[in-house]
Amino acid sequence: AKILVAGNGGRDFSIYSSFTKLPEVNSVYCAAGKRNWFTAKYKECPSTNVSDIAKFAAENSVGLVIAGPELPIAQGISAACQEFKIPVLAPSLGCASLEASKIICKEIIISAGIKTADSTIITWKKLKETLHCFIENGSSNNFSLPCVIKYDSLAAGKGVFVLFKREDVIEALHSIEINLNEWESLSAQINAPTYSKKQGEPCFLIEETLSGEEISAIALCNGENFRLLPIARDYKRRNNGQTGPNTGGMGTVSPMQLNSQLREQIKDSFTKTLRELVKRNMPYQGFLFAGFMVDKNNTAWLLEYNCRLGDPETQVLLPGLQRDFYTELYRTAKGLPFLFPEKSGTAFSHDNLKRVFVVGASPEYPEKSAARREVLIPENNEFSELNCEFIPTAIEPDNSTTGGRAFGVTATALTFEEAQKNAYIAMNKIQLKNSDGTLSQPHFRTDIAAELCSYENS
Ligand code: ATP
Repeated sequence: AKILVAGNGGRDFSIYSSFTKLPEVNSVYCAAGKRNWFTAKYKECPSTNVSDIAKFAAENSVGLVIAGPELPIAQGISAACQEFKIPVLAPSLGCASLEASKIICKEIIISAGIKTADSTIITWKKLKETLHCFIENGSSNNFSLPCVIKYDSLAAGKGVFVLFKREDVIEALHSIEINLNEWESLSAQINAPTYSKKQGEPCFLIEETLSGEEISAIALCNGENFRLLPIARDYKRRNNGQTGPNTGGMGTVSPMQLNSQLREQIKDSFTKTLRELVKRNMPYQGFLFAGFMVDKNNTAWLLEYNCRLGDPETQVLLPGLQRDFYTELYRTAKGLPFLFPEKSGTAFSHDNLKRVFVVGASPEYPEKSAARREVLIPENNEFSELNCEFIPTAIEPDNSTTGGRAFGVTATALTFEEAQKNAYIAMNKIQLKNSDGTLSQPHFRTDIAAELCSYENS
């Protein structure tokens, strides 16, 4: 069969990589937009417009289209492919609002009866006044610190601000003022309904601050039925010990072992959400990503939904999955019910190995502009001897990178300790060559999986 993947990030590389290992996949196409180190190896759909992708898939007899990132989903790749009868793994536009509009998502989560932080909808104009009051008086008439500010629509992971102190407020206000136009133009490019578009002005949520440990749960959903992928943890802050600015993710681990009470809460959230969507005549077909905060009483609070596989969670999730995952995935994409609906809610089979993924970024990350550097990547067998896979992300066809999270390494082992050790041996083999010929170390956190390793040893 032929498959087409829309996307060009680290997650999307892991999708390509997993599917090319399947015996029945003989040809892979990509709709990647900007060509990079790995998409340059695949046959390319020249456009990233969702109708063009669907037409291209039909002309090339593609048997499965998978959308990696949120944009093609929020632009309607699902309906576009269905028009040409191409099996597609992506939810409908209505369902895409779960990610594309944090305010619509909140309303659905609340109607479904799921535990989530209390929040208030606020327009940008009112929010600006509130933030100025915070800066001047430490609080406003209706709100006080700490709190969390969330831009309603897509913001490439940069639209959420956790505010504890005055400096955080100043920084958030500055960042929103700089980025709002860009976010609004992204919002104009999507077709999924958002609350702000309906209001005709940018809106935000002001939310109570939760504390605890975060986990990522992803389910393959098919109407009211779902199957869980292994649970993962994403290390979001730039620096060790969860310090420094929030990023798109500096590393991941999986599978996380959860106690049964927590597992049941997570399953209950998916069950209730899917039921609520069916009730609204919006059955969900595709991956649904739930970010939870687990508090000290072992209660899971739903922070957000994303309508796709997570990045960088996918890099530790897909390699361990087995046949049953692909069987149910193909059926979902074809619009067929799960083959084993009686297994709804259970986890997919997994090889039970531990995986650790570490991101390598340019030293400037997450600042936008970085110098162009060549990524010096050792021979493939140096990684395979360590049971590691090199995951290219922002590397151009000539091996250079101009910043961001440029690559990563997924290590696989029997224990987290072994996987962590090998991931770091592999990371230390990769260097960046500056334009003047000197070498730099990429930036990476050195504590990914640390708490799991000490748990293994306790
Ligand atoms: P992503 O980069 O995953 O797409 P996003 O922009 O969609 O992120 P969220 O995942 O909702 O935004 O929030 C980003 C991060 O902000 C969370 O992972 C969490 O660390 C923090 N956060 C969000 N809501 C809260 C909350 N109510 N209390 C405390 N922290 C929160």
